[in-house]
Amino acid sequence: MMRISRNQDFGIRVKKTTNDEIGILIEGFNHMLAQIELRDRLLTNHRSHLEEQVSERTIELSGANQKLKRTVSELEKAKAMAEKANRTKSRFLANISHEIRTPMVGVLGMSELLLQTPLDERQLSMAETVCRSGESLLALLNDLLDLSRIEAGKLTLQERDFELRRTVEDVLDLLGEKALAKGLDIACILQQGMVTARSGDFVRLRQILLNLVGNSIKFTDEGEIVLRVWESPERDSVVFFEVSDTGIGIDSLQQITIFDSFTQADNLEGRNTGGSGLGLAIVKQLIDLMGGSIELESRPGQGAKFRFSLRLEKRGSPRSGSDMLLLENTRILVAAPGRATRSLLTEFFEAHGCRLQTAADRLTALQELEDAKNEGRPFDLALVEGGLFPGEKGESFTAPRFNYLESTRFILLGRRRSGEGRSGIPPSDEIPTLYKPIRISALEEMIPGILQKKPHTLPDFGEGEDESVG
Ligand code: ADP
Repeated sequence: MMRISRNQDFGIRVKKTTNDEIGILIEGFNHMLAQIELRDRLLTNHRSHLEEQVSERTIELSGANQKLKRTVSELEKAKAMAEKANRTKSRFLANISHEIRTPMVGVLGMSELLLQTPLDERQLSMAETVCRSGESLLALLNDLLDLSRIEAGKLTLQERDFELRRTVEDVLDLLGEKALAKGLDIACILQQGMVTARSGDFVRLRQILLNLVGNSIKFTDEGEIVLRVWESPERDSVVFFEVSDTGIGIDSLQQITIFDSFTQADNLEGRNTGGSGLGLAIVKQLIDLMGGSIELESRPGQGAKFRFSLRLEKRGSPRSGSDMLLLENTRILVAAPGRATRSLLTEFFEAHGCRLQTAADRLTALQELEDAKNEGRPFDLALVEGGLFPGEKGESFTAPRFNYLESTRFILLGRRRSGEGRSGIPPSDEIPTLYKPIRISALEEMIPGILQKKPHTLPDFGEGEDESVG
Protein backbone atom coordinates (compact mmCIF):
# COMPACT_ATOMS: atom_id res chain seq x y z
CA MET A 1 0.00 0.00 0.00
CA MET A 2 2.88 2.37 0.81
CA ARG A 3 4.56 1.62 -2.54
CA ILE A 4 1.39 2.23 -4.43
CA SER A 5 0.71 5.57 -2.84
CA ARG A 6 4.34 6.63 -3.19
CA ASN A 7 4.82 5.60 -6.85
CA GLN A 8 1.25 5.92 -8.03
CA ASP A 9 1.73 2.53 -9.61
CA PHE A 10 -1.64 0.89 -9.77
CA GLY A 11 -0.29 -2.12 -11.69
CA ILE A 12 1.00 -3.73 -8.50
CA ARG A 13 -0.97 -6.70 -7.12
CA VAL A 14 -0.65 -8.40 -3.72
CA LYS A 15 -0.13 -12.11 -3.75
CA LYS A 16 -2.93 -14.07 -1.99
CA THR A 17 -1.54 -16.85 0.20
CA THR A 18 -4.41 -17.81 2.44
CA ASN A 19 -8.13 -18.26 2.13
CA ASP A 20 -8.96 -16.69 5.43
CA GLU A 21 -10.12 -13.13 6.07
CA ILE A 22 -6.68 -11.72 5.09
CA GLY A 23 -7.00 -13.60 1.79
CA ILE A 24 -10.44 -12.04 1.16
CA LEU A 25 -9.03 -8.58 2.03
CA ILE A 26 -6.17 -9.05 -0.48
CA GLU A 27 -8.64 -10.11 -3.16
CA GLY A 28 -10.78 -7.03 -2.52
CA PHE A 29 -7.69 -4.81 -2.53
CA ASN A 30 -6.50 -6.26 -5.86
CA HIS A 31 -9.92 -5.80 -7.38
CA MET A 32 -9.94 -2.18 -6.30
CA LEU A 33 -6.50 -1.64 -7.84
CA ALA A 34 -7.65 -3.21 -11.10
CA GLN A 35 -10.55 -0.80 -11.28
CA ILE A 36 -8.36 2.22 -10.55
CA GLU A 37 -5.88 1.07 -13.19
CA LEU A 38 -8.65 0.67 -15.75
CA ARG A 39 -10.08 4.11 -15.01
CA ASP A 40 -6.59 5.60 -15.21
CA ARG A 41 -6.08 4.09 -18.64
CA LEU A 42 -9.44 5.30 -19.89
CA LEU A 43 -8.69 8.77 -18.60
CA THR A 44 -5.31 8.94 -20.31
CA ASN A 45 -6.86 7.68 -23.48
CA HIS A 46 -9.61 10.28 -23.32
CA ARG A 47 -7.18 13.11 -22.60
CA SER A 48 -5.08 12.34 -25.62
CA HIS A 49 -8.23 12.04 -27.74
CA LEU A 50 -9.50 15.34 -26.37
CA GLU A 51 -6.38 17.12 -27.46
CA GLU A 52 -6.83 15.67 -30.92
CA GLN A 53 -10.44 16.79 -30.94
CA VAL A 54 -9.55 20.31 -29.80
CA SER A 55 -6.95 20.72 -32.46
CA GLU A 56 -9.41 19.36 -35.05
CA ARG A 57 -12.07 21.85 -33.94
CA THR A 58 -9.54 24.67 -33.89
CA ILE A 59 -8.67 23.98 -37.48
CA GLU A 60 -12.33 23.83 -38.42
CA LEU A 61 -13.03 27.06 -36.54
CA SER A 62 -10.23 29.02 -38.08
CA GLY A 63 -11.43 27.80 -41.49
CA ALA A 64 -14.92 29.06 -40.70
CA ASN A 65 -13.47 32.28 -39.41
CA GLN A 66 -11.62 32.92 -42.61
CA LYS A 67 -14.71 32.07 -44.59
CA LEU A 68 -16.68 34.52 -42.46
CA LYS A 69 -14.09 37.22 -43.00
CA ARG A 70 -14.29 36.63 -46.73
CA THR A 71 -18.10 36.77 -46.62
CA VAL A 72 -18.05 39.97 -44.57
CA SER A 73 -15.65 41.66 -46.93
CA GLU A 74 -17.70 40.46 -49.92
CA LEU A 75 -20.85 41.76 -48.25
CA GLU A 76 -19.22 45.07 -47.48
CA LYS A 77 -18.19 45.36 -51.10
CA ALA A 78 -21.72 44.46 -52.22
CA LYS A 79 -23.21 46.95 -49.75
CA ALA A 80 -20.93 49.72 -50.95
CA MET A 81 -21.84 48.86 -54.53
CA ALA A 82 -25.56 48.79 -53.70
CA GLU A 83 -25.31 52.12 -51.92
CA LYS A 84 -23.45 53.60 -54.83
CA ALA A 85 -26.05 52.23 -57.22
CA ASN A 86 -28.81 53.58 -55.00
CA ARG A 87 -27.24 57.00 -54.91
CA THR A 88 -26.79 56.92 -58.66
CA LYS A 89 -30.43 55.86 -59.00
CA SER A 90 -31.59 58.62 -56.69
CA ARG A 91 -29.47 61.17 -58.50
CA PHE A 92 -30.81 59.93 -61.80
CA LEU A 93 -34.37 60.09 -60.46
CA ALA A 94 -33.79 63.56 -59.07
CA ASN A 95 -32.36 64.77 -62.38
CA ILE A 96 -34.96 63.12 -64.52
CA SER A 97 -37.90 64.31 -62.45
CA HIS A 98 -36.46 67.78 -62.58
CA GLU A 99 -36.11 67.49 -66.35
CA ILE A 100 -39.66 66.20 -66.75
CA ARG A 101 -41.02 68.93 -64.53
CA THR A 102 -39.94 71.72 -66.82
CA PRO A 103 -41.97 70.63 -69.88
CA MET A 104 -44.78 69.57 -67.53
CA VAL A 105 -45.08 73.12 -66.28
CA GLY A 106 -45.26 74.21 -69.92
CA VAL A 107 -48.03 71.71 -70.67
CA LEU A 108 -49.96 72.85 -67.60
CA GLY A 109 -49.54 76.54 -68.33
CA MET A 110 -50.64 76.09 -71.93
CA SER A 111 -53.66 73.99 -71.00
CA GLU A 112 -54.70 76.64 -68.48
CA LEU A 113 -54.43 79.28 -71.20
CA LEU A 114 -56.34 77.00 -73.54
CA LEU A 115 -59.14 76.81 -70.96
CA GLN A 116 -59.51 80.58 -71.11
CA THR A 117 -60.16 80.57 -74.86
CA PRO A 118 -63.60 79.98 -76.38
CA LEU A 119 -64.09 76.22 -76.53
CA ASP A 120 -67.10 74.10 -77.27
CA GLU A 121 -68.32 71.69 -74.62
CA ARG A 122 -66.33 68.70 -75.87
CA GLN A 123 -63.12 70.66 -76.25
CA LEU A 124 -63.60 72.16 -72.81
CA SER A 125 -64.00 68.77 -71.19
CA MET A 126 -60.91 67.45 -72.99
CA ALA A 127 -58.83 70.48 -72.05
CA GLU A 128 -59.98 70.15 -68.44
CA THR A 129 -58.92 66.50 -68.40
CA VAL A 130 -55.50 67.48 -69.78
CA CYS A 131 -55.18 70.09 -67.06
CA ARG A 132 -56.27 67.79 -64.21
CA SER A 133 -54.03 64.95 -65.37
CA GLY A 134 -51.17 67.39 -65.70
CA GLU A 135 -51.72 68.58 -62.17
CA SER A 136 -51.67 65.08 -60.69
CA LEU A 137 -48.61 64.16 -62.75
CA LEU A 138 -46.85 67.26 -61.49
CA ALA A 139 -47.76 66.43 -57.88
CA LEU A 140 -46.37 62.93 -58.37
CA LEU A 141 -43.18 64.32 -59.90
CA ASN A 142 -42.74 66.70 -57.01
CA ASP A 143 -43.06 63.82 -54.56
CA LEU A 144 -40.57 61.72 -56.52
CA LEU A 145 -38.18 64.62 -56.69
CA ASP A 146 -38.38 65.14 -52.93
CA LEU A 147 -37.93 61.49 -52.10
CA SER A 148 -34.99 61.03 -54.44
CA ARG A 149 -33.37 64.21 -53.16
CA ILE A 150 -33.65 62.98 -49.60
CA GLU A 151 -32.29 59.54 -50.54
CA ALA A 152 -29.43 61.02 -52.53
CA GLY A 153 -28.58 63.11 -49.45
CA LYS A 154 -29.13 66.22 -51.52
CA LEU A 155 -31.88 67.81 -49.50
CA THR A 156 -30.60 70.55 -47.28
CA LEU A 157 -32.70 72.15 -44.62
CA GLN A 158 -33.13 75.91 -44.49
CA GLU A 159 -33.08 77.14 -40.90
CA ARG A 160 -34.92 80.43 -40.59
CA ASP A 161 -36.81 82.32 -37.93
CA PHE A 162 -40.54 81.99 -38.33
CA GLU A 163 -43.88 82.42 -36.60
CA LEU A 164 -45.15 78.95 -35.77
CA ARG A 165 -48.78 80.01 -35.36
CA ARG A 166 -48.81 81.57 -38.81
CA THR A 167 -47.30 78.45 -40.42
CA VAL A 168 -49.86 76.20 -38.77
CA GLU A 169 -52.80 78.47 -39.53
CA ASP A 170 -51.66 78.84 -43.15
CA VAL A 171 -51.90 75.08 -43.54
CA LEU A 172 -55.50 75.13 -42.35
CA ASP A 173 -56.23 78.12 -44.57
CA LEU A 174 -55.04 76.14 -47.58
CA LEU A 175 -56.92 72.94 -46.75
CA GLY A 176 -59.76 74.17 -44.54
CA GLU A 177 -62.21 74.84 -47.32
CA LYS A 178 -61.88 71.26 -48.56
CA ALA A 179 -62.69 69.97 -45.07
CA LEU A 180 -65.59 72.38 -44.53
CA ALA A 181 -67.02 71.49 -47.95
CA LYS A 182 -67.12 67.85 -46.78
CA GLY A 183 -69.03 68.96 -43.67
CA LEU A 184 -66.05 68.35 -41.37
CA ASP A 185 -65.13 70.60 -38.48
CA ILE A 186 -61.49 71.62 -38.50
CA ALA A 187 -59.32 73.62 -36.11
CA CYS A 188 -55.75 74.05 -34.98
CA ILE A 189 -55.16 74.42 -31.28
CA LEU A 190 -51.85 75.78 -30.05
CA GLN A 191 -50.97 75.40 -26.41
CA GLN A 192 -51.88 78.63 -24.63
CA GLY A 193 -48.84 80.70 -23.82
CA MET A 194 -46.32 78.66 -25.79
CA VAL A 195 -43.56 80.52 -27.56
CA THR A 196 -44.44 80.71 -31.24
CA ALA A 197 -41.36 82.61 -32.43
CA ARG A 198 -39.17 79.70 -33.51
CA SER A 199 -36.39 78.81 -35.83
CA GLY A 200 -36.32 75.88 -38.25
CA ASP A 201 -37.22 74.86 -41.78
CA PHE A 202 -40.82 76.06 -41.84
CA VAL A 203 -41.27 75.28 -45.54
CA ARG A 204 -40.62 71.60 -44.83
CA LEU A 205 -42.77 71.78 -41.69
CA ARG A 206 -45.61 73.14 -43.81
CA GLN A 207 -45.07 70.33 -46.32
CA ILE A 208 -45.33 67.73 -43.52
CA LEU A 209 -48.49 69.30 -42.11
CA LEU A 210 -50.09 69.70 -45.53
CA ASN A 211 -49.51 66.01 -46.14
CA LEU A 212 -50.91 64.82 -42.81
CA VAL A 213 -53.89 67.18 -42.71
CA GLY A 214 -54.55 66.49 -46.42
CA ASN A 215 -54.66 62.74 -45.70
CA SER A 216 -56.96 63.28 -42.71
CA ILE A 217 -59.41 65.19 -44.87
CA LYS A 218 -59.14 62.55 -47.61
CA PHE A 219 -59.88 59.66 -45.26
CA THR A 220 -62.56 61.26 -43.06
CA ASP A 221 -66.21 61.57 -44.02
CA GLU A 222 -67.71 62.65 -40.74
CA GLY A 223 -66.55 64.41 -37.60
CA GLU A 224 -63.52 66.59 -37.19
CA ILE A 225 -59.86 67.14 -37.81
CA VAL A 226 -57.76 68.74 -35.12
CA LEU A 227 -54.18 69.90 -35.39
CA ARG A 228 -52.67 70.36 -31.94
CA VAL A 229 -49.31 71.95 -31.19
CA TRP A 230 -47.56 72.10 -27.83
CA GLU A 231 -44.06 72.40 -26.46
CA SER A 232 -42.37 69.66 -24.51
CA PRO A 233 -42.58 70.31 -20.76
CA GLU A 234 -38.97 69.14 -20.31
CA ARG A 235 -37.27 70.79 -23.26
CA ASP A 236 -39.09 73.78 -24.65
CA SER A 237 -37.04 73.70 -27.86
CA VAL A 238 -38.94 70.53 -28.76
CA VAL A 239 -42.37 71.06 -30.25
CA PHE A 240 -45.01 68.36 -30.62
CA PHE A 241 -47.57 68.25 -33.40
CA GLU A 242 -50.59 66.00 -33.57
CA VAL A 243 -53.00 65.60 -36.45
CA SER A 244 -56.05 63.62 -35.42
CA ASP A 245 -59.15 62.72 -37.38
CA THR A 246 -62.33 60.72 -36.94
CA GLY A 247 -61.98 58.91 -40.26
CA ILE A 248 -61.66 55.33 -41.46
CA GLY A 249 -58.47 54.59 -39.51
CA ILE A 250 -55.65 52.18 -40.30
CA ASP A 251 -55.34 48.61 -39.00
CA SER A 252 -52.28 47.46 -37.06
CA LEU A 253 -50.86 45.38 -39.93
CA GLN A 254 -50.91 48.31 -42.32
CA GLN A 255 -49.43 50.58 -39.69
CA ILE A 256 -46.15 48.62 -39.93
CA THR A 257 -45.50 49.57 -43.54
CA ILE A 258 -47.41 52.82 -43.79
CA PHE A 259 -44.27 54.98 -43.74
CA ASP A 260 -42.58 52.98 -46.54
CA SER A 261 -42.51 54.37 -50.08
CA PHE A 262 -45.28 53.34 -52.42
CA THR A 263 -47.42 51.76 -49.71
CA GLN A 264 -51.07 52.39 -49.52
CA ALA A 265 -53.48 50.69 -47.22
CA ASP A 266 -55.59 48.21 -49.17
CA ASN A 267 -57.67 49.74 -51.86
CA LEU A 268 -60.96 48.98 -50.27
CA GLU A 269 -63.91 50.97 -51.39
CA GLY A 270 -63.79 54.44 -49.97
CA ARG A 271 -60.04 54.27 -49.62
CA ASN A 272 -59.38 54.40 -53.31
CA THR A 273 -58.75 58.09 -53.40
CA GLY A 274 -55.79 58.34 -55.71
CA GLY A 275 -52.37 59.25 -54.39
CA SER A 276 -49.06 57.53 -54.89
CA GLY A 277 -48.30 56.22 -51.43
CA LEU A 278 -45.29 58.53 -51.28
CA GLY A 279 -46.70 61.18 -48.96
CA LEU A 280 -46.07 59.48 -45.63
CA ALA A 281 -42.66 58.19 -46.75
CA ILE A 282 -41.63 61.78 -47.47
CA VAL A 283 -43.14 62.95 -44.19
CA LYS A 284 -41.16 60.36 -42.21
CA GLN A 285 -37.90 61.06 -44.03
CA LEU A 286 -38.28 64.80 -43.57
CA ILE A 287 -38.99 64.38 -39.87
CA ASP A 288 -35.98 62.05 -39.51
CA LEU A 289 -33.86 64.58 -41.33
CA MET A 290 -35.05 67.30 -38.97
CA GLY A 291 -34.04 65.20 -35.98
CA GLY A 292 -37.56 64.28 -34.90
CA SER A 293 -39.72 61.17 -34.87
CA ILE A 294 -43.24 60.29 -35.88
CA GLU A 295 -45.70 57.77 -34.49
CA LEU A 296 -49.16 56.66 -35.42
CA GLU A 297 -52.05 55.62 -33.24
CA SER A 298 -55.10 54.29 -34.99
CA ARG A 299 -57.81 51.66 -35.07
CA PRO A 300 -59.97 50.82 -38.05
CA GLY A 301 -63.15 52.86 -37.97
CA GLN A 302 -61.93 55.00 -35.10
CA GLY A 303 -59.81 57.62 -36.81
CA ALA A 304 -56.08 58.15 -36.89
CA LYS A 305 -53.65 60.20 -34.82
CA PHE A 306 -50.25 61.10 -36.27
CA ARG A 307 -47.93 62.62 -33.68
CA PHE A 308 -44.44 63.94 -34.31
CA SER A 309 -41.86 66.06 -32.58
CA LEU A 310 -39.35 68.50 -34.02
CA ARG A 311 -36.56 70.57 -32.60
CA LEU A 312 -37.47 74.20 -33.23
CA GLU A 313 -35.35 76.56 -31.19
CA LYS A 314 -37.11 79.40 -29.37
CA ARG A 315 -36.60 82.89 -30.72
CA GLY A 316 -38.39 84.99 -28.13
CA SER A 317 -40.49 84.81 -25.01
CA PRO A 318 -44.20 84.14 -24.64
CA ARG A 319 -46.51 87.02 -25.43
CA SER A 320 -47.76 88.86 -22.39
CA GLY A 321 -51.37 88.74 -23.58
CA SER A 322 -52.07 92.03 -21.83
CA ASP A 323 -53.98 93.24 -24.87
CA MET A 324 -56.65 90.68 -24.03
CA LEU A 325 -57.08 91.87 -20.44
CA LEU A 326 -60.48 93.23 -21.33
CA LEU A 327 -61.70 89.67 -21.69
CA GLU A 328 -61.22 88.90 -18.02
CA ASN A 329 -64.47 87.95 -16.29
CA THR A 330 -66.57 88.54 -19.39
CA ARG A 331 -69.39 86.11 -20.00
CA ILE A 332 -69.01 84.28 -23.26
CA LEU A 333 -71.23 81.87 -25.15
CA VAL A 334 -69.73 79.61 -27.78
CA ALA A 335 -72.42 77.96 -29.87
CA ALA A 336 -70.94 75.67 -32.49
CA PRO A 337 -71.88 72.14 -33.48
CA GLY A 338 -68.30 71.07 -34.20
CA ARG A 339 -66.19 69.74 -31.34
CA ALA A 340 -62.94 71.04 -32.83
CA THR A 341 -64.20 74.61 -33.00
CA ARG A 342 -65.67 74.42 -29.50
CA SER A 343 -62.39 73.09 -28.04
CA LEU A 344 -60.37 75.80 -29.78
CA LEU A 345 -62.57 78.62 -28.51
CA THR A 346 -63.00 77.12 -25.04
CA GLU A 347 -59.24 76.88 -24.53
CA PHE A 348 -58.75 80.42 -25.77
CA PHE A 349 -61.44 82.08 -23.64
CA GLU A 350 -60.72 80.05 -20.53
CA ALA A 351 -57.06 81.01 -20.72
CA HIS A 352 -58.16 84.65 -20.68
CA GLY A 353 -60.23 84.29 -17.55
CA CYS A 354 -63.66 84.34 -19.20
CA ARG A 355 -66.75 82.70 -17.83
CA LEU A 356 -67.71 80.40 -20.61
CA GLN A 357 -70.74 78.42 -21.69
CA THR A 358 -70.80 76.20 -24.73
CA ALA A 359 -73.62 74.82 -26.81
CA ALA A 360 -73.50 72.27 -29.57
CA ASP A 361 -76.99 72.88 -30.91
CA ARG A 362 -79.48 75.65 -31.36
CA LEU A 363 -81.85 74.64 -28.56
CA THR A 364 -79.08 74.57 -25.97
CA ALA A 365 -77.76 77.88 -27.27
CA LEU A 366 -81.15 79.53 -26.93
CA GLN A 367 -81.60 78.00 -23.49
CA GLU A 368 -78.25 79.39 -22.39
CA LEU A 369 -79.19 82.85 -23.67
CA GLU A 370 -82.55 82.65 -21.91
CA ASP A 371 -81.04 81.45 -18.61
CA ALA A 372 -78.43 84.21 -18.72
CA LYS A 373 -81.17 86.77 -19.20
CA ASN A 374 -83.26 85.33 -16.35
CA GLU A 375 -80.29 85.48 -14.04
CA GLY A 376 -79.84 89.12 -15.02
CA ARG A 377 -76.36 88.43 -16.35
CA PRO A 378 -76.63 88.31 -20.13
CA PHE A 379 -73.60 87.23 -22.14
CA ASP A 380 -71.18 89.95 -23.13
CA LEU A 381 -70.26 88.11 -26.28
CA ALA A 382 -71.80 85.22 -28.17
CA LEU A 383 -69.94 83.39 -30.91
CA VAL A 384 -72.49 81.55 -32.97
CA GLU A 385 -71.94 79.28 -35.88
CA GLY A 386 -73.98 80.23 -38.95
CA GLY A 387 -76.69 77.68 -39.44
CA LEU A 388 -77.46 77.24 -35.75
CA PHE A 389 -80.11 79.95 -35.72
CA PRO A 390 -83.06 80.41 -38.01
CA GLY A 391 -83.72 83.60 -39.87
CA GLU A 392 -80.60 83.27 -41.90
CA LYS A 393 -80.72 84.52 -45.41
CA GLY A 394 -78.09 82.62 -47.35
CA GLU A 395 -75.03 82.65 -45.18
CA SER A 396 -75.73 86.01 -43.55
CA PHE A 397 -76.78 85.78 -39.98
CA THR A 398 -79.57 87.61 -38.28
CA ALA A 399 -79.61 87.08 -34.57
CA PRO A 400 -82.85 86.33 -32.78
CA ARG A 401 -84.71 89.54 -31.99
CA PHE A 402 -84.93 89.13 -28.26
CA ASN A 403 -84.69 92.18 -26.07
CA TYR A 404 -82.34 90.49 -23.62
CA LEU A 405 -79.84 90.14 -26.40
CA GLU A 406 -79.44 93.86 -26.64
CA SER A 407 -76.51 93.83 -24.30
CA THR A 408 -74.89 90.88 -26.05
CA ARG A 409 -72.48 91.35 -28.92
CA PHE A 410 -72.35 88.68 -31.57
CA ILE A 411 -69.66 87.14 -33.71
CA LEU A 412 -70.79 84.82 -36.43
CA LEU A 413 -68.65 81.81 -37.23
CA GLY A 414 -68.98 80.95 -40.87
CA ARG A 415 -67.39 79.74 -44.06
CA ARG A 416 -65.75 82.20 -46.34
CA ARG A 417 -67.62 82.73 -49.56
CA SER A 418 -65.48 82.80 -52.66
CA GLY A 419 -64.05 86.22 -53.30
CA GLU A 420 -64.04 87.24 -49.65
CA GLY A 421 -60.84 88.08 -47.91
CA ARG A 422 -59.75 87.25 -44.37
CA SER A 423 -62.04 87.59 -41.38
CA GLY A 424 -63.01 91.10 -40.54
CA ILE A 425 -65.62 93.43 -39.31
CA PRO A 426 -67.94 94.27 -42.16
CA PRO A 427 -68.53 97.96 -42.88
CA SER A 428 -72.29 97.89 -42.30
CA ASP A 429 -73.98 96.99 -39.04
CA GLU A 430 -73.95 93.36 -40.10
CA ILE A 431 -72.70 90.90 -37.53
CA PRO A 432 -68.90 90.54 -37.81
CA THR A 433 -67.85 87.19 -39.15
CA LEU A 434 -64.97 85.04 -38.10
CA TYR A 435 -64.20 82.67 -40.91
CA LYS A 436 -63.51 78.99 -40.38
CA PRO A 437 -60.98 77.48 -39.94
CA ILE A 438 -60.64 80.02 -37.18
CA ARG A 439 -57.44 82.02 -36.83
CA ILE A 440 -56.98 83.06 -33.22
CA SER A 441 -55.10 86.13 -34.45
CA ALA A 442 -58.22 87.23 -36.38
CA LEU A 443 -60.35 86.74 -33.27
CA GLU A 444 -57.87 88.73 -31.18
CA GLU A 445 -57.99 91.54 -33.70
CA MET A 446 -61.78 91.59 -33.58
CA ILE A 447 -62.35 91.45 -29.86
CA PRO A 448 -61.35 94.95 -28.69
CA GLY A 449 -63.47 96.61 -31.37
CA ILE A 450 -66.45 94.46 -30.60
CA LEU A 451 -66.36 94.58 -26.83
CA GLN A 452 -65.96 98.35 -26.82
CA LYS A 453 -68.70 98.89 -29.39
CA LYS A 454 -72.30 99.13 -28.33
CA PRO A 455 -74.23 95.92 -28.86
CA HIS A 456 -75.64 95.32 -32.29
CA THR A 457 -78.90 96.72 -33.38
CA LEU A 458 -80.22 93.42 -34.38
CA PRO A 459 -81.41 93.01 -37.92
CA ASP A 460 -84.71 91.60 -38.92
CA PHE A 461 -85.68 88.17 -37.76
CA GLY A 462 -88.52 86.43 -39.62
CA GLU A 463 -91.88 86.95 -37.88
CA GLY A 464 -93.35 84.05 -36.02
CA GLU A 465 -90.21 81.98 -35.97
CA ASP A 466 -89.19 80.51 -32.71
CA GLU A 467 -91.93 82.04 -30.64
CA SER A 468 -91.44 79.44 -27.99
CA VAL A 469 -88.22 81.08 -26.99
CA GLY A 470 -89.04 84.68 -27.86
P1 ADP B 1 -51.18 58.68 -50.61
O1 ADP B 1 -50.53 59.59 -51.56
O2 ADP B 1 -51.64 57.41 -51.23
O3 ADP B 1 -52.18 59.30 -49.72
P2 ADP B 1 -49.59 58.42 -48.24
O4 ADP B 1 -48.22 57.89 -48.05
O5 ADP B 1 -49.86 59.82 -47.83
O6 ADP B 1 -49.95 58.18 -49.73
O7 ADP B 1 -50.58 57.48 -47.45
C1 ADP B 1 -50.46 56.08 -47.59
C2 ADP B 1 -51.73 55.39 -47.21
O8 ADP B 1 -51.95 55.50 -45.81
C3 ADP B 1 -52.97 56.00 -47.83
O9 ADP B 1 -53.20 55.50 -49.10
C4 ADP B 1 -54.04 55.57 -46.84
O10 ADP B 1 -54.48 54.27 -47.16
C5 ADP B 1 -53.33 55.53 -45.51
N1 ADP B 1 -53.58 56.74 -44.72
C6 ADP B 1 -52.79 57.82 -44.58
N2 ADP B 1 -53.32 58.74 -43.74
C7 ADP B 1 -54.49 58.22 -43.31
C8 ADP B 1 -55.53 58.68 -42.42
N3 ADP B 1 -55.46 59.87 -41.80
N4 ADP B 1 -56.59 57.86 -42.22
C9 ADP B 1 -56.67 56.67 -42.85
N5 ADP B 1 -55.74 56.18 -43.69
C10 ADP B 1 -54.65 56.93 -43.93
